[in-house]
Amino acid sequence: MWIAHHLRIRWMGGNRDTGVTDVCHVGDVIPVAVGRDSEQHWRVFRFRCVDRRLPGVSRGVNEYRTKLWNDRGVAVGQEWPPDESTNDHLLAHVAPLVSHLLQVHNDVDSTPPTAHSLLDGYCRTEGCGTVSRAKSRGIAMGAQGGAGHPMAMTMDEMTKTERVMAAVMGEEVDRIPVCFWHHFRPHGSGRKMAEATLEFFEATFDLDILKIMPDLPYPFPRRSVRDPDDWMLVEPIDVERSRFFHQRAVAIQALRDAVGYETPIVMTVFSPLCEAMHFTETRDAFLEHARNTPSVVHEALSTIAENLRAHIQDCVDSGADGVFFALQGCTHQYMSSEEYKEFGRPYDLLALQGARDSWLNILHVHGDRELMFDEVLDYPIQVLSWSDRLAGPSLREARAKTSKCLMGGWHEFGPLSNGPEADIRAEAEDAIRQTTGRKFILANGCSVPDDTQDHWLHVARELVDELELPAG
Ligand SMILES: [Zn+2]
Repeated sequence: MWIAHHLRIRWMGGNRDTGVTDVCHVGDVIPVAVGRDSEQHWRVFRFRCVDRRLPGVSRGVNEYRTKLWNDRGVAVGQEWPPDESTNDHLLAHVAPLVSHLLQVHNDVDSTPPTAHSLLDGYCRTEGCGTVSRAKSRGIAMGAQGGAGHPMAMTMDEMTKTERVMAAVMGEEVDRIPVCFWHHFRPHGSGRKMAEATLEFFEATFDLDILKIMPDLPYPFPRRSVRDPDDWMLVEPIDVERSRFFHQRAVAIQALRDAVGYETPIVMTVFSPLCEAMHFTETRDAFLEHARNTPSVVHEALSTIAENLRAHIQDCVDSGADGVFFALQGCTHQYMSSEEYKEFGRPYDLLALQGARDSWLNILHVHGDRELMFDEVLDYPIQVLSWSDRLAGPSLREARAKTSKCLMGGWHEFGPLSNGPEADIRAEAEDAIRQTTGRKFILANGCSVPDDTQDHWLHVARELVDELELPAG
């Protein structure tokens, strides 16, 4: 049986020891996935770069763009054919790093394999033109694929991570990446959250991003703040003991174990202002406090933002590729730009510091009208999500404003949740025309209703495989 792992650099001193200071930093994902085969031998079955600083990722088994240290004669981005010299090179230069990582990263296994056996496994597995994707999916789905029969990889088929990363980078994709979502009821359990996520995003709809919904809520009672003094009840969270942190990390780790590193995982996190608005009876009540007693509100926002910064960092450390950071109140419907600049933006930026090393951070500007869209275009994120059909701006208008990857195209209360097929397809095709299909992820603007019939979602997912991409 294969168990996919990714390794993230979590310590500082080790960089110097391994000589990778120039190309690796704390928080980087080391592009290997390690697993055990049916004979309990350890194998490295992925050795590719997942790093936002390097444009492009490998495609197919004959391309390896590996980040290695230049002073050992390997250029960043170099492609390696899987031949004898590659084997030697890996043994000489990569093996010590992998070995070191496995020893440090003690949740991989208590008896780390030798570097040599790892690399031997790597070359036998990857070099012979087969990959273990079918196996790792076999675990996720419970059976098919099975151990012992690696599936030949179609050369032009991208993994989900490659497809989404190519979209983020503005590179060519084999088809438009797609995602949609609604909420679940995990009742506080990270394990249940992972099961529901895997069932919906992977098993049922085979979507390109596993989006963990915010259904394990921030630990503060909803609608409980009535008096301005109540804001002082908002406290720093104890990272080590917090159920909120722990259960969300459990969900991420369970999903990562299930899908390996071929599928991006993002954690949905509400912005500090968004959480604070949830704590009051109504948004108007929040605004009243913000306007009349700003200092206590600022203090609470800053505590929430610091909690969320630590939480996002913890999510990334647990294996998430980034965060789906949802803003509410970022609309003229609720407050002025000046007020958002005072109560929203600084805390958003503080919280997002937790995601600064990840490559797939999606900013969701929630609302059905008058979004403050231009005000957040400079946020340090890679993808923008909003209800383009409901609130605007259109994808075309947004494309003219920003070079960030855009996510949307389907009206969340439109054909996607009600049909008919022709209209679901028409929206998707129109979205591709508006964006030219580059730097674009096809998705709902916001959650579809939880009772949306699977039928229309199946229709939507299936037609994505047939969508034509503009030439060039
Ligand atoms: Zn929304």
